[in-house]
Amino acid sequence: MTVTRHDLIVVGAGLVGAACVEAATAAGLRVAVVESGAIGGGATSAAMGHLVAMDGDAAELALCTHSLRLWPRWAAWPESEFQPCGTLWIARSEVERAQIPARVDALAGAGVPAKAVGTRALYDLEPHLAPGLLGGFRVPGDAVVYPPRVAWRLIAEACRDGAELHAGVRAERLVDDGVRLDNGRTLRGPVLVATGAALPELLPELPMRPRKGQLVITDRYPPLVRHQLIEMGYAAAAHGADDASVSFNVQPRPNGQLLIGSSREYGNTDASVSPPLLGRMLRRAFDFVPALRELRAIRAWSGFRPATPDGLPYLGAVPGRHGVWVAAGHEGLGITAAPGSASLVVDAFLGRTPALDLAPYRPGRALREAA
Ligand SMILES: Cc1cc2nc3c(=O)[nH]c(=O)nc-3n(C[C@H](O)[C@H](O)[C@H](O)COP(=O)(O)OP(=O)(O)OC[C@H]3O[C@@H](n4cnc5c(N)ncnc54)[C@H](O)[C@@H]3O)c2cc1C
Repeated sequence: MTVTRHDLIVVGAGLVGAACVEAATAAGLRVAVVESGAIGGGATSAAMGHLVAMDGDAAELALCTHSLRLWPRWAAWPESEFQPCGTLWIARSEVERAQIPARVDALAGAGVPAKAVGTRALYDLEPHLAPGLLGGFRVPGDAVVYPPRVAWRLIAEACRDGAELHAGVRAERLVDDGVRLDNGRTLRGPVLVATGAALPELLPELPMRPRKGQLVITDRYPPLVRHQLIEMGYAAAAHGADDASVSFNVQPRPNGQLLIGSSREYGNTDASVSPPLLGRMLRRAFDFVPALRELRAIRAWSGFRPATPDGLPYLGAVPGRHGVWVAAGHEGLGITAAPGSASLVVDAFLGRTPALDLAPYRPGRALREAA
């Protein structure tokens, strides 16, 4: 049996794993990466690619803002298809309208420029919105990208710098000081598990539920909207524990297509598109942008967000296991939060002081909850 030793073995090459591989390689480590499917082919390939400063929770916002400061390096790569369109959050109820100042302040407090938008300004910015909406706020620094190709680029950069790619190979189980692959090989060294929603297959002690999401993409049209549009109720739906929910979220792609989302569903691990929930999602979108009804949808797909019980990712060493680390569980924010997560985990792995206090993301919190 062949045995190879590495400074770090990363399992999973979604955007989070790929970011860790690149960061570790750039730090001078001898890295191996194991990916059973396509690079960037898991939740990463299903994502909307919205880079968003999500303000629902202080630790979530801190991870987003740290990551958004790191994104410009990747955004400069043509593969990212970076589009600095900003986010326009939309109030539909008086309750949401009343939340605008606090949300703008929370973002400003985290160093994220945001500006309240009155009703008239809302329609100046986005004339195709349905009548009767109540303003909102604009976050000009948010953007959109095309995530799977960023994952590819990260792995390509790392391989150029010496990382070893084990493609089409599944990590079967963690073993003492390494990982056993399904091709019979064993890689030796510390292991960083970045397998997204599949995390419990290797680390069953860390609770994780797949949270299905669906998206629709239209044909190409002249511009209908300019910003990533999102209803203010989105954060509540994302943090909520409902078995199934939909919220309005529309993104202009650089080629004239519109990406329409989004849904959240627990307890459904069937990857096929569910027409009833898709219908609910589209009706929600039509409520906000009625002209969407006239466009031709050309494709719908689903993916599985990796959801931890408290919605925050696991970043750090896994308690009770020697030499096992984790970076997984970013739910609907893994594209935004990948560079920051990688920097935190790799810094901690190297014994450097991470840019953020890792306490809110420590895997041990979930072990305690599970106990
Ligand atoms: C519909 C939808 C829309 C979204 N929109 C956004 C958005 O706009 N903005 C945002 O920030 N986030 C968004 N997300 C969330 C984001 O996609 C995820 O949080 C992120 O992709 C998670 O990345 P990951 O690398 O942890 O997991 P994944 O991308 O799932 O990658 C995990 C990888 O591990 C591999 N793997 C698993 N098990 C093994 C094994 N045993 N051996 C080897 N390899 C293995 C898999 O093949 C996979 O490639 C969205 C998600 C969905 C589903």
